[in-house]
Amino acid sequence: MHPTYSALTVLIVDDSRCIRDVLREMLRELGVGLILEAHEGAQAIARCAESPTPVDLVFCDMAMPGLDGVQTLRAMAVAHPEIAVVPLSGRGSRLLASVTRLAEQIGLRVVAALSKPFTMEMIEQVLADTVRTRGEHLHGKPRAMSAEAIDRAIAERRVEVYYQPKISLADGSIAGVEALARIRDTEVGIIDPSAFIEVAEQDPERIERLTMEVIRQSIEQTGFWRRSGLGLKVAINLSTQAIHGVDLPDAISAIVSGAGLSNDCVTMEITESRVIHRPDVLDTITRFRLRDFGLAIDDFGTGESGLQRLKGLPFTELKIDRGFVAGVANDADARAILETSLELGHRLDMRVVAEGVERKRDWRVLEDLGCDEIQGYLAARPMPAQAIPDFVGAWNIASVSALPT
Ligand code: C2E
Ligand code: CA
Ligand code: CA
Repeated sequence: MHPTYSALTVLIVDDSRCIRDVLREMLRELGVGLILEAHEGAQAIARCAESPTPVDLVFCDMAMPGLDGVQTLRAMAVAHPEIAVVPLSGRGSRLLASVTRLAEQIGLRVVAALSKPFTMEMIEQVLADTVRTRGEHLHGKPRAMSAEAIDRAIAERRVEVYYQPKISLADGSIAGVEALARIRDTEVGIIDPSAFIEVAEQDPERIERLTMEVIRQSIEQTGFWRRSGLGLKVAINLSTQAIHGVDLPDAISAIVSGAGLSNDCVTMEITESRVIHRPDVLDTITRFRLRDFGLAIDDFGTGESGLQRLKGLPFTELKIDRGFVAGVANDADARAILETSLELGHRLDMRVVAEGVERKRDWRVLEDLGCDEIQGYLAARPMPAQAIPDFVGAWNIASVSALPT
C-alpha cells in the first residue's frame, strides 16, 4: 500500500506497552519494513547498535524510568547523527518544544514532536517527512567552525546573506525578508549559521564584526532593491553579545540613510531569552525604537521571560518559535499556546509572525487564528539576494492553496 516506507527501519522507545502496541500497529499498517521496540533508553541504544539495517527513525518517549528521553536522544546523536527523531510526550507541547530545540542543538533531525494520543494521519506525515528530509539534513549539516576560520571568512569577505520572504496573510503580499547569515567555503559550499553564530558569540568583538557585516550587506541590498522598484522591508538578527561599546542605533541609522532608506524599513530581531537581564540591552533596544526601527522578539515561547516582561518593552513584532507552529493543526496544546501568544501580541499592539510553517494545514490554522505574517519553507526557503526579484515576481498566494496538504 505504501511501498515508499517498506525500506524504513523504525524504533519505538516507550515504557508504556500500550503506546508501543498502538504505534507498532500503525507503522505496520503503513508498510514500514522493520519495526524495533525498546521499553527504556539503554535498551534503545542497544537496539540501534544491533539492528540489521540502520535505524532511520526513532519515536522516543520523553518521560521514562532510567535514562530519560533527552539522555537517550543525546546518546543516539553521538552514535547515529543521521537518525531522524520524534519526541513523544503526554505532557503537552511546552515540554516538547524545549526538547525539540535541545535535540536540534545536539544535531539531531527532529521531524516532528507528538503529543499523545496519535492518529494514523500524524504518523503517516512523520514517515513522509522522514523520507522527504533524509538527504537534506546530512548534506547541509555543518560542523562547528573554529574562531579562526570565522575570522578568515569575515576578512576574505565570504560572509553572505540569504533572504527568506515573510508573507502577510491580510493581503497575501510579501511583507519583507529576513536576512540570514551564511559563510561561503571554497570546499563545502554554503555553511549554515548553526556552525558559526554560537562560536562567534563567544567573543563580543567577533560577533560584532560578523553582525555589522550582515547589517551592512542586507541594508545596502534592501536599498538597491528599493531603487530598482522592489520595496521590501528587511529584518536582521541581532545577538545581544554584539550590543556593547558601539552605539548600534546610531551606527545602523547611518548605514540606513546611506542606503537611501528610512529606519522603519528595518526590523531588529532579538531572541526572547536574551532580552531580559542586561540593562544595556534594554537601553539599546529602547533607542532603536526611538529611532523608528522595528523591533521583534524572536523565538517567542522558548525563553523563560513570561508575559510579564513584555509589557514594558517597546517591541513591534512577536515571532512565535517554530516549535509551537510546526504541526499545530494536529496538536491542541500547541494551538492553545499559539492562540494565547496571538492574543497577547495583538493586545500589546504587535504584529505576530509564525515561523517554520512547512505544511498547508498549519498555514490554514494560522489564517483562522488571525496570525499576521507567515515565514516558512511552505512559502519560501532562504535564498540568495539574486533570487529574490524572481521570487517576488512569481509569487502568488493562491499557489499555496494549490499545494497538497
Ligand atoms: P532564526 O532567527 O529563528 O531564523 C529562522 C531559521 O529558521 C532560519 O534558519 C530559517 O532557515 C529556518 N526556517 C525558516 N522556515 C523554516 C521552516 O519552515 N522549517 C524549518 N525547519 N526551518 C525554517 P537559519 O538560516 O539556519 O538560521 C538559524 C539561526 O541562526 C537563526 O534562527 C538565527 O538565530 C541565527 N542567525 C542567522 N543569521 C544570523 C545573523 O546574522 N546574526 C545572528 N546573531 N544570528 C543569526
Ligand atoms: Ca530571526
Ligand atoms: Ca526565530
